[in-house]
Order: sequence, then C-alpha cells, then structure tokens
Amino acid sequence: MARVYLENIARRFNTAIAIEDISFEVPDGQFWVLVGPSGCGKSTILRTIAGLETATSGNLYIGDRLVNQVPARQRDVAMVFQNYALYPHMTVAENLAFGLRMRQADPKTIRARIETVAQALNIHHLLERKPRQLSGGQQQRVALGRAIARQPQVFLLDEPLSNLDAQLRDDTRAELKQLHQRLGITSIYVTHDQVEAMTLADQIVVLNQGKIQQIADPQTIYAKPANQMVATFLGSPPMNLLHATYEDNGFQVERQRIPCPDRLRAQLKPHSGQRFNLGIRPEHLHIATQPSQMHLAVEVTVVEPLGKEILVRTTLPVENRGSAPILNIQVAPELKPKVGDRLPLFLNLDQLCVFEPNSGENLLF
Ligand code: ATP
Repeated sequence: MARVYLENIARRFNTAIAIEDISFEVPDGQFWVLVGPSGCGKSTILRTIAGLETATSGNLYIGDRLVNQVPARQRDVAMVFQNYALYPHMTVAENLAFGLRMRQADPKTIRARIETVAQALNIHHLLERKPRQLSGGQQQRVALGRAIARQPQVFLLDEPLSNLDAQLRDDTRAELKQLHQRLGITSIYVTHDQVEAMTLADQIVVLNQGKIQQIADPQTIYAKPANQMVATFLGSPPMNLLHATYEDNGFQVERQRIPCPDRLRAQLKPHSGQRFNLGIRPEHLHIATQPSQMHLAVEVTVVEPLGKEILVRTTLPVENRGSAPILNIQVAPELKPKVGDRLPLFLNLDQLCVFEPNSGENLLF
C-alpha cells in the first residue's frame, strides 16, 4: 500500500489541454473518487498515474518514489477498466494468475492467491470457465479479482461498474466498498455516477475542464459546494438555481422576495443592486403552513410520484412564461399536489447558497 501524490500535473495533446495544474495527495489506504462531466480529464489523470499516459509537466509519486520515468509495469499499480479487458482465450483461473505469472511468482503462491480471491469475490464456481461463458457482472468480478490477486500498492478503477445493469451495479458497488474496508488498498476511482462517488469516497475530487473544482468528503461537497458547477453537478434532482438581485437585506426574484440569511448580511451589504445566483436543494424547500412563513409562491407544472415521495416541478409566476424560473421540490406522497396548484413555499435559509454569477463562486465558502 502507498500514498499517491500528484504535484502540478498537466497533460496537453498538441495545443489542447486535457488536465492542468492537478495537485492532490491520496493518503495510504484511502479511497478517492474523481468525478466530473465527460471530457473533464478524469481518465487522463488515472492513466497518468498508471503510466499509460505521460504527463507534459509535473511530478507523480507513488509512496516516496518519484515515478515520472518509471514504466507502467514497474509502478506496482493495478487498473480495472470499464470493459473488463479479460483475456478471452484463458480461463478465469488463468486470468487471475496472469499478473502473478508475469512476475514469476511460484505456483504455490499463485494457487493460494487464486483461492483467496475466489473466496473474497465468490467466483469459485467460475474458475474453469472462459470469459465468454460469464455474465457482465461475473466478468467484472473477475477483472477486480485479477487486480486484487496481484496485491498492488494502488488500485485504479476507471468506471468499472458502468456496463452493469442497475441492480447488479448497486450490489457490486456495495461489494467494492466491503472489499476496500477489508483490504485497505489505496484506491482511485473514476466515475460520472454521483451515487458511486457519494457512497464510496473518503474524498471526492470534482473536476471540470481539466481543473480541480473542489476536494472534500462527500457530505461537505454536497452541503458546502465551492462553486455553482459543483453544486449543480452533485445531487439528484440537482440544486435549484434562481437569478436574483440583492437589495435591502433581501433577494428580489422576479416579483417575489427572499430574505438574506443573517450570516450573509454583513458580507452583502456593500453589494446592493448586484445580481447573484441563489442555490437551494429540493429537500430544503417546504410547503408553508402559515402565510407568515411563505418566501415564494409557485405553480405546479409536473408531478412525478416516486413511491416514497413526490417530485414536483414548479415555476415562479412571471409575465413571460417561457422564461419562468423552475423549482423542483420533494413532497410527501399524502400531499397529492396537482398540476396548476399554487403552492406557498418556505426555504430553509440556513441551506441557501449564494453564487457570484461570473466566477460561480459560493460566497459562503
Ligand atoms: P469521459 O467521462 O467521457 O470518459 P474524461 O473526464 O475521462 O471523459 P478524458 O478522457 O481524460 O476525459 O479527456 C480529457 C480531454 O482530453 C478531452 O477533451 C479529450 O478529448 C482530450 N483527450 C484525451 N485523450 C486524448 C488524445 N489521445 N488526444 C487528444 N485529446 C485527448
């Protein structure tokens, strides 16, 4: 096991910048997840750590060793890919043994490792099969097993669950978490699935356009996003955004008014007349039971029952309906809202985010 330290890593392809000035340190034994929209540089970072890609500048350390010039096979990392990449002509047992054979491990060690891995992943009954005789989930288990059998210092996983159907994905995700708790191998995991990021990570690295937006534990990323990109990328349904103007200790949104949270008053005082984007998560909007509680009046446009709750899409009444701000809220199933209903809402002001509209920065950060 080892820490992984990236120091100002950049990777350019001709003139295009894939990643820029990436620095972070994954401590020994932790599970870190890289997330971000397609093309933000997640795989490039992982491939650079694996040695499949060469950084244009910067330093990469695995443990205390500077590995910039160390070829992939000598880095002692194991990578698991989205498409499994098993050897089709070999049995499962041979696939599991392959990495160890390449390192000239003795047959006794190889047998013992296959046994341990087969037990850990529950694939005993598959050892003599060829990959084409396995389901997608079973193939992915074997791919994980092959990485584990090598007992690498670092695991690198590139969207390993994205080819699996929803149920299998949930099960395998939970197994992965257990496996990491048991083995404690430093792991770096790439995904664009926010549930995987939230449930698996010790720390999440959010990327956009080749740059780090925020590094924090999942709860902090969710509750205190550094900027509007992070705020709207994580969370389903996503955080609601409203364009507002700050004046007289409050935010004017269309013809309605949201009071400024106390904690922001001093900071915003000099900014009267300026525009801001307000962010509020659906679970922090509630239906007001008394008129004095109401912050916003909205109109229901779509009702989506989800069983345990109802997702309600609403709009703020405006003159030009085409530009009406949309607010998603979650309500209890007993409420039975109908399209066209007017709802009085109050916001949990403690949870309100205020973003500077040009930089996207969260003022509270
Ligand atoms: P996805 O989620 O779609 O897999 P990603 O976040 O993993 O995306 P990367 O694959 O790391 O993104 O790509 C980052 C950027 O670098 C993209 O703009 C991509 O087009 C570019 N890029 C990656 N590899 C190459 C290459 N070999 N040549 C040129 N550009 C590349």
